[in-house]
Amino acid sequence: MFLTISTTGTPGRPATDLGFLLHKHPEKAQAFSTSYGTAHVLYPEADEQRCTAALLLEVDAVALVRRGKGKGRGGAPDAALAQYVNDRPYAASSLLAVAIGAVFSSAMRGVCRARPELPEQVRPLRVEVPALPARGGPDLVRRLFEPLDWTVTAEPVALDTEFPEWGDSRYVRLVLESRSRTVAEALRHLYVLLPVLDDAKHYWVAADEVDKLLRAGEGWLPEHPEQKLITSRYLSRRWSLTREAMARLELVRLAETDDNEVEAIDNAVAAEAEAEEKPTPLAVRRRDAIVAALTEAGAARVLDLGCGEGHLVQALLKDPRFTEIVGVDVSMRALTIASRRLKLDRMGERQAARVKLFQGSLAYTDSRLKGYDAAVLSEVVEHLDLPRLPALEYAVFGAARPRTVLVTTPNVEYNVRWESLPAGHVRHRDHRFEWTREEFRAWAGAVAGRHGYGVEFVPVGPDDPEVGPPTQMAVFTVNGNAHEKSHEKSHEKTHEKTHEKEAKAA
Ligand code: SAH
Repeated sequence: MFLTISTTGTPGRPATDLGFLLHKHPEKAQAFSTSYGTAHVLYPEADEQRCTAALLLEVDAVALVRRGKGKGRGGAPDAALAQYVNDRPYAASSLLAVAIGAVFSSAMRGVCRARPELPEQVRPLRVEVPALPARGGPDLVRRLFEPLDWTVTAEPVALDTEFPEWGDSRYVRLVLESRSRTVAEALRHLYVLLPVLDDAKHYWVAADEVDKLLRAGEGWLPEHPEQKLITSRYLSRRWSLTREAMARLELVRLAETDDNEVEAIDNAVAAEAEAEEKPTPLAVRRRDAIVAALTEAGAARVLDLGCGEGHLVQALLKDPRFTEIVGVDVSMRALTIASRRLKLDRMGERQAARVKLFQGSLAYTDSRLKGYDAAVLSEVVEHLDLPRLPALEYAVFGAARPRTVLVTTPNVEYNVRWESLPAGHVRHRDHRFEWTREEFRAWAGAVAGRHGYGVEFVPVGPDDPEVGPPTQMAVFTVNGNAHEKSHEKSHEKTHEKTHEKEAKAA
């Protein structure tokens, strides 16, 4: 695997500055060991006029198989021999991107201590990759690099030069040229787009790939016309990660764009999701299930407790059945984003009268939460430490006491079905716990018993015969009104004790 980066010099800016920019001295050939083999950096030419750095990766096929456990995209085991005998050592691919990340990490970040002014400099650059696997062919190569201001030459490589009638291979010889890019930008483009073109990552796509993608994509990915394809291919089409990345890219744009554009982006993403007929995202199914349960309960005045960035509030606002919607969250940041999403500051008076957002913690009773028809806790309880749950329980079921309470939470049994989730991991970094169906039922049943509610359980998402649905929802309904008054009194007395006992048990 092989890649070269060249630059030319101008008076006062010798081409050999490339050595400083890459943090690799032009007069030395250097070798670095990476997880997949040895990366060599050498300079075939280095003078004031022209300087070329070559990155050459010698892949260790055995290490590759051991690390990747022989999994191709989609998890299908490769044929035993294909694990060892394949095109990996010869083609530039995702592994070359890994090597770029490992060998040129400071250069990618645009750091150069010795010559701090250098990384900012735009200079003539030429990148050549003699054999680049490109699913989508020269056409896609151009769609990816041209919007980034590269002049692209992408020539298909014949399958066999002696037998041209066999046609082209899936490789192209790629040459990129630009006079408007810095070395750091060039490296970041390659780091993301080489694996996108290869479209077959040979290592496990872990959740931190989203962070890597967004870091390397800073300054160009949020505006790229092929952003969706880039994101989904980079993350090996793992939808949950792709959605996370798209949502975070949207946030970057939110910060920089005005509200009309935000709406346009929302619509475009929604339209594209439909057009692709990919499975309905779980978050959407969850909102649909919540809206259906609220409708069935006849709720008009609704609390969204732990409303986050306001997706559910937004969905409820679209339905005139819901006359008052209150979003509460402990995070000011989440509320700020929610308020932008809803365009609270520009809403007509009648709409504005229907919605309120305020900051509050569910770990404390709050008189503002009293008197509503329903409260939703969507994917919230698992964000609290277990010992805090009795406090939340009292604040919601003891003090606020809406007629209906909906609680959704992940079903941990389903985690084995998420391809991208390593065994034993929770779905989100901030989840303090995830429950089995039985654990959730036990908790919800006890809560219902203590506070005079009945409870039913509804699966959300595909209900797997073995492990159940990805999300579980409990629908609590307060028992008859007569019971209500006496319950409230007796509850007031016992709650302190229950609270203490539970905190100890947890
Ligand atoms: N309900 C949203 C967001 C779930 S994320 C959805 O379904 O998509 C969990 C949210 O709970 C976060 O926004 C977090 O800030 C909020 N949260 C966590 N602990 C909280 C607490 N003690 N009080 C109020 N909100 C809390």
